[in-house]
Amino acid sequence: MKDELFPPPIPVFASTRKDALDQLNAFIPATGRYSSARNYVLPGHTNISRLSPAIRHRLILESECAAAPLRRYAASTVEKFTQEVYWRRYWKNWLSLRPKVWSDYLDQLAVLQNDPNAEATRARAARCEAGESPVAIMNHFARELVETGYLHNHARMWFAGWWIHIERLPWQLGADFFLRQLLDGDPASNTLSWRWVAGLQTPGKTYLPRRSNLEKYLPPEVLAMHHVGLELLEQPQALILSNEERPTVTHPSLPPTPPLRKSRFGIWIHEEDLFIEQSPLASLKPSAILATGDTATWTRFRYPEYKINWLRSALADAAKRAGSAFGVESRVLADSPVTDALRLWAYENQLQQIAAMRPEIGPLHDQLPAIQATLAQAGIDLILADRSEDLALRPLATAGFFGFWEKMQKALKEGL
Ligand SMILES: Cc1cc2nc3c(=O)[nH]c(=O)nc-3n(C[C@H](O)[C@H](O)[C@H](O)COP(=O)(O)OP(=O)(O)OC[C@H]3O[C@@H](n4cnc5c(N)ncnc54)[C@H](O)[C@@H]3O)c2cc1C
Repeated sequence: MKDELFPPPIPVFASTRKDALDQLNAFIPATGRYSSARNYVLPGHTNISRLSPAIRHRLILESECAAAPLRRYAASTVEKFTQEVYWRRYWKNWLSLRPKVWSDYLDQLAVLQNDPNAEATRARAARCEAGESPVAIMNHFARELVETGYLHNHARMWFAGWWIHIERLPWQLGADFFLRQLLDGDPASNTLSWRWVAGLQTPGKTYLPRRSNLEKYLPPEVLAMHHVGLELLEQPQALILSNEERPTVTHPSLPPTPPLRKSRFGIWIHEEDLFIEQSPLASLKPSAILATGDTATWTRFRYPEYKINWLRSALADAAKRAGSAFGVESRVLADSPVTDALRLWAYENQLQQIAAMRPEIGPLHDQLPAIQATLAQAGIDLILADRSEDLALRPLATAGFFGFWEKMQKALKEGL
């Protein structure tokens, strides 16, 4: 069912680097008032950048988003925007220091999805996802998410808070709904934001959706149109989840990237990093380039068609740019599992080594041991590289965001 808010205007989410850069440039004037404007949930979402799918898949880099507004404004004027941009890096780094939080989430989700005793819970969650709950405004957000692949940050907070503390549904099922539907679905930002709303991320701090807050930040006509059930948001009571042990920090010891032998090697582009021509791989002279779609994850998490189409378009753009930057043939294989695509491509091009950017914690990272083992059986080494800024910022996410932000600014000033 088409929602009354649409059309107009359904935002378009850049799936090429050029479009993302144009969108970033067009948003620069708005970064000066971002701090006071960002919390309002307005039709078309023109008060926020809508760049998250492009940033999440690295069509553009966080450093580029942080630098662009400085062409027009003082750093202090756009600090809020810069901080938000680096929240993603903070979440990614936080998770990479505590990867068990991701694997525990997947295990808990699998139990909820398969336990015969959880059937009624699953059915209720499915009704909330389909926009058939008792709270009309949440149904409106569920439909917006499914129709556009996007929700404003405030709507994400309200929806997650309502799902957990009012509907009393397991946060893991809500996180799965978001990760599947969001074009910017990000294992770190999504899992950790849901945990934060649930009170697990910052112990004792939960996020509750309140009617008065919705009234402040939504246009009155939208609330008037979706007023049924608003009274359920009047006095929300936090659901206190059982105390979880504080996740322990383990600093991953990454082996230094080995040098490429003087043999035939190729560059593998995947959807975790779509800007390979500005990366540690940029100086290499590959014989071939391949971009793969992580179809196993697309199937496992039931990605909708619009999201798969967005990813295909972004992969094609990355392959095309890399092909012309490196001056070699580049292909996209997005119909078979990554391992099969890599093996076939390596065989056809007689490659002995494959170089790629290391995926961050998430579904593709989980597949690395199997990918590496299969390639090794065919006599092919997989060599993974990291961006120096990522490596420098990773150890800083040991505690809260603002400590990270302070240390990060110092590190950036000192040239990392
Ligand atoms: C329950 C919940 C789930 C979320 N799931 C995701 C997710 O799967 N993927 C995702 O990218 N973001 C997620 N977020 C964070 C945030 O809602 C989106 O990044 C933001 O709404 C994207 O819109 P924008 O690009 O217009 O952001 P802008 O307001 O224009 O911000 C600029 C950029 O900063 C980053 N950013 C902004 N806010 C946040 C934030 N709160 N946390 C982390 N990074 C931020 C994004 O890269 C964003 O593109 C989630 C938030 C909540 C509360």
